[in-house]
Amino acid sequence: MTSPSLPLCEAWFEIEVAGNGLFRITEPHVDALLRANAWLQIGKDRDLLVDTGNGLAAVLPVVQRLRREPTKPLVAFATHSHQDHAGGLYEFDDRWIHAADAAAAAAPGRLLFRDDVGAATRQLITDAGLSLPELLIEALPTREFDPLEFLPHPAYATRKVEEGSPLSLGDRTFEVLHLPGHTHGSAGLWEASTGTLFSGDAVYASDPLIDTTPTSSIPEYLETMRRLRQLLVTVVHPGHDFSFGRELMIDRCDGYIARRSVSGRNARLAAAGQ
Ligand SMILES: [Zn+2]
Ligand SMILES: [Zn+2]
Repeated sequence: MTSPSLPLCEAWFEIEVAGNGLFRITEPHVDALLRANAWLQIGKDRDLLVDTGNGLAAVLPVVQRLRREPTKPLVAFATHSHQDHAGGLYEFDDRWIHAADAAAAAAPGRLLFRDDVGAATRQLITDAGLSLPELLIEALPTREFDPLEFLPHPAYATRKVEEGSPLSLGDRTFEVLHLPGHTHGSAGLWEASTGTLFSGDAVYASDPLIDTTPTSSIPEYLETMRRLRQLLVTVVHPGHDFSFGRELMIDRCDGYIARRSVSGRNARLAAAGQ
């Protein structure tokens, strides 16, 4: 097998200014499955990066260019261990992840070819009417990059967080919410005073929400959705796609509960007259 020939991209990362010291960093040349958001929040005493991209190109220089004071402390928080969120975590000095996903971040699996995606998740994507290309990038991040040689970098957590772990930026105060289901160690960051939630892959706007990975759990995901729909959210900054408010979050939670819970399934069967 020879490496596929792909064009060299001009800029691997795309930056969007989201206001109030928040930036959204994305990778437009990866397939939608891997096109995650890395959120940079500038703080008074400390800056915060929520998720770190795929690790196919260095994200640290991009982050440093966006920071007003690049020497200030910076926490890189991975919402979970998947490559599209924790792939660049190794580049940072201060690496936070939930304790239940720390081992997976230290021994990451490659997500670059369709065959790297588990069969159950491929099926979920097909069922949602989407398809996956054989190679999950459409351009090369650097001239030297060889998809066949790529191995994700292990990231060793410097801080293993739990439910309730505090994260202060001086002027912003977040706490960790353990939101298992997508993975056992999926976690979000919640600021109660502003109703701001960084949700990772627990909830985002598009389909499918993925509960089919080797460390997914549908019962845990159902509990997470029941919890999230009670949260007095003003804005959700998700792991994929655009930010949204409480109404859409409740829709997403209710849709998941209706699809995956026993009572939801029974209601569907009754409606279908079976
Ligand atoms: Zn994920
Ligand atoms: Zn993701």
